[in-house]
Amino acid sequence: MKEGIHPNYQKTQVRCACGEVFETGSTKENLRVDICSKCHPFFTGRQKLVDTGGRVDRFNKRFGINNK
Ligand SMILES: [Zn+2]
Repeated sequence: MKEGIHPNYQKTQVRCACGEVFETGSTKENLRVDICSKCHPFFTGRQKLVDTGGRVDRFNKRFGINNK
């Protein structure tokens, strides 16, 4: 692997809209996400979040999920 071609890849804190905070690797210092593996029904198996503005729909389409 060449040096100097990668931006500052480091551990960063990601804050989800549901309140979940977890760490991941990123080039950005602080990240905000609308949905995470803790609150998305695809991962939890149940619908427990209020879908405002079709965020879940877009998420589902991105991953080819259609559970309407
Ligand atoms: Zn979440």
